[in-house]
Amino acid sequence: MADNGSVQGATIYAVEEYTVQEEPYYLPIGDEVQLFETAYRQRIPVLLKGPTGAGKTRFVEYMAYRLGRPMMKISSRTGEEVEHRMPLITVACHEDLTASDLVGRYLLDTDGTRWVDGPLTRAVKVGAICYLDEVVEARKDTTVLIHPLTDYRRLLPIEKLGQVIEAAEGFLLVISYNPGYQSALKDLKHSTRQRFIAIEFNYPPRDAEAKIIARESGCDERTAMDLARLGEKVRNLKEHGLGEGVSTRLLVYAGRLIAQGIAPRRACQVAITWALTDDSEVQRSIEEVVTSIF
Ligand code: ADP
Repeated sequence: MADNGSVQGATIYAVEEYTVQEEPYYLPIGDEVQLFETAYRQRIPVLLKGPTGAGKTRFVEYMAYRLGRPMMKISSRTGEEVEHRMPLITVACHEDLTASDLVGRYLLDTDGTRWVDGPLTRAVKVGAICYLDEVVEARKDTTVLIHPLTDYRRLLPIEKLGQVIEAAEGFLLVISYNPGYQSALKDLKHSTRQRFIAIEFNYPPRDAEAKIIARESGCDERTAMDLARLGEKVRNLKEHGLGEGVSTRLLVYAGRLIAQGIAPRRACQVAITWALTDDSEVQRSIEEVVTSIF
């Protein structure tokens, strides 16, 4: 990847380096692929709703790949012809993330000050899909940017430059949100959420999850099915003090450890039981489920 500079320790990459080059593995669970494709064609912003590790990020990567119209362009870095695909710019939102982090800022360097576009501005300019992961975590001032970008105007105001940028043709804003973390303070405002269609994600049904685990971890099919059954049972423990059920991601981790020769019970202990909770009673309940399967 090309290194174009740094902002507070973060490395900025050229936008064309963000494209999804290889087809990501994604197993569709319902009609989400068709829904997203249709929304994209209509440039309707999309909200992906669901628990952590349920496949939202993988889905966006897959959709960016699918929607990418392959065409050749010259790489700014090497001067060679490269295949250009739909750029995808992902921003993991956190509580200190401000509108300036998304839009850009002036940087001081040896030649004086220069403006550096933030990830949202880059996405708007090149016509990328911009994925704001866990958007409720970000500072409230980010809604000032989201609103004009998600209605018919498709505009990005850059206050510090006194500019308003019209989004390029391919641009689409996609955000994700985990209703499980919901609190009065960290909820999506109605004025924001009613600008998106919402696709709900949940953990896949057992057979589909087993397929995903086998494919992603390299473990055998039987182990994958056992892990999927374990996942289902652990998720049923939610009423017994478990904050959030085990994610597909953690089941894949357990599968990877097992595929590498770690004993299944030990693999489940570190990838599932201890990863999920610090509460010793809940840990005991999970262990019981593990020993009933492995
Ligand atoms: P989220 O963004 O919802 O937190 P991710 O997209 O990172 O979750 O998913 C976590 C992992 O689960 C992925 O890396 C992938 O291995 C697996 N996964 C979950 N759902 C699917 C799916 N439908 N198809 C393929 N892999 C999936």
